[in-house]
Amino acid sequence: MLSYRHAFHAGNHADVLKHFVEVQLLRYLEQKDKPFWYIDTHAGAGCYALDTGYATQNAEFESGIARLWQRDDLPAPLAEYVELVKRINPDGQMKLYPGSPLVALELLREQDRMRLFELHPTDSDILQENFAGYGTQVLMQTADGFGALKALLPPPPRRALVLIDPPYEDKQDYKRVVTALQEGLKRFANGVYAVWYPQLQRAEAKQLPEQLKQLPVKSWLHVALSVQAPGEDGFGMHGSGMFVLNPPWTLYGVLQEVMPYLVKHLAQDAQADFILEHHESSL
Ligand code: SAM
Repeated sequence: MLSYRHAFHAGNHADVLKHFVEVQLLRYLEQKDKPFWYIDTHAGAGCYALDTGYATQNAEFESGIARLWQRDDLPAPLAEYVELVKRINPDGQMKLYPGSPLVALELLREQDRMRLFELHPTDSDILQENFAGYGTQVLMQTADGFGALKALLPPPPRRALVLIDPPYEDKQDYKRVVTALQEGLKRFANGVYAVWYPQLQRAEAKQLPEQLKQLPVKSWLHVALSVQAPGEDGFGMHGSGMFVLNPPWTLYGVLQEVMPYLVKHLAQDAQADFILEHHESSL
């Protein structure tokens, strides 16, 4: 049963962290002319209205992208992400928010390819509409992204960013992420893999980053943004993280600059904070 709809959360603090990091990873892959693939295992609808429909119900974007929209003191890497969101809102009003596939499409070059998976039939139809007309450059399927990933690896150009961004409403998602990465690394050890996860009181969410640190990979980077103290009732998301396997070596420095800014401007209480850690192994 698929009940999660990303439109309720579009542009919130978690999307800001995820899509900001996504921009950094794509920019890194673009430093070489050689083509790459962008693979999104849980693509969502691709683009979200902020002024009508689901996003207006809790208006989560107001404590996310809206807090950055008018700022003129953004650190340069963050400004690049905000500019990208502004590009899809050419009249200057914050009406649309790009999902991860649209963030990627904005940066994709002619030689690059995009492979998208979305299981929810409604979001999959919207995605299909939003991304029609790109021929074989952009292919999408209504399919289980965890299962589909295996068959795509390694991608023909041997360069790729794989974004794994499940809803985690089903706690099996935590296990599936780890298994997908174990299998992915066997087939394509040098890929850049980025996993988004929620900061929740539930044990599986707390354990996930620790489990990802055990994967057999040359290097990893972990960044998390907590916007508030964990809820006393044990419910609710108080932040989120991105765990990147084979990250660009420059990412740590960029995040050192940007994370204090995000904490300051996206904080919802005085306990807002961030985690930033990385590791290089001798593998
Ligand atoms: N990556 C999107 C973005 O950043 O704009 C948001 C994705 S949202 C967090 C997770 C999506 O995964 C939902 O649209 C949900 O319908 C979809 N989904 C759930 N299980 C799936 C599965 N096994 N395979 C593919 N998509 C799935």
